[in-house]
Amino acid sequence: MKTGFIGLGLIGGSIAMAIRDKYPESTIVAYNRSREPLIKALKDGVINIATFEIDDSFKDCDHIFLCAPVQTNISFLPKLIPYLTDKTVLTDVGSTKSNIHEAVSKMMPGVHFIGGHPMAGKEKSTYFNASKELLEGCYYFITPSNSVTGKDVETFENLLRSIGCNPVAVEAEKHDYIVGAISHVPHMAAYMLVKLVKDNDTPEKFMQEAAAGGFKDTTRVASSDPTMWEEICLANKDNLTELMDIYIKKLTEIRNFISESDGKALYDIFKEARDYRNSIIE
Ligand code: NAD
Repeated sequence: MKTGFIGLGLIGGSIAMAIRDKYPESTIVAYNRSREPLIKALKDGVINIATFEIDDSFKDCDHIFLCAPVQTNISFLPKLIPYLTDKTVLTDVGSTKSNIHEAVSKMMPGVHFIGGHPMAGKEKSTYFNASKELLEGCYYFITPSNSVTGKDVETFENLLRSIGCNPVAVEAEKHDYIVGAISHVPHMAAYMLVKLVKDNDTPEKFMQEAAAGGFKDTTRVASSDPTMWEEICLANKDNLTELMDIYIKKLTEIRNFISESDGKALYDIFKEARDYRNSIIE
């Protein structure tokens, strides 16, 4: 088995580590912009081949994972064309799916492409925070294109299951709407909560000093990589703006209940939200 990685950061590195663990004899080739992750991954025995450009090293891969920020992944598509054969399934781990499907069907129709998005991760990027356990037990959205065979999907799903992920197939557009609500809007809320505190702190900076558990839990994701999130927002613009409009309406609603001292309405919202939150499987 031969697997390729374009971008060996948190997610690419974690998948490579999990594959190395399950398939010790397999070949793993990786390309990354900076050298340090590649050098460390070679030293760790996670990858066999490190390359500083997309070249012949990617020939004959069974799977190639695109693991850079979402728009950057798209910029690599033309460079990969010479190394893709009928044997290779191209996939990505990006947080948005419609944009890459559109690009693949325009730039490389017929290529065996299965979009992917592991619902796992953390706010600390880079290979140096990766681990073979990161994706264990995660829900892994897959978005097969029209040019893949049933066998391609089965082989890819089996690979994901073998490293502990739970693949779930969904259409790319539906994926972007779902993650818009459960991931992208919450990131925007976290960023602006942090800005609220930063811009309204007392002269002594008491807010910054005293911020504890609740604030830190709610805003943890605001420590994510800014480039990654710039690219995600622009790639999922329509869903994100539509869902943010709904969220803004909901904030206005609760703000009005507070200003009108409507305790009953507040209680009902808190109870409904608590019960729904408690129903989400940890
Ligand atoms: P990361 O920053 O840890 O890794 C990205 C890697 O790509 C880095 O090693 C970086 O050096 C490399 N890279 C960036 N630009 C490059 C370029 N132009 N040429 C070559 N290499 C380049 O980020 P990550 O968290 O692993 O995210 C990677 C992808 O996974 C993104 O598309 C993101 O949307 C998706 N994703 C992230 C999470 C998460 O929680 N972090 C979860 C699921 C999916």
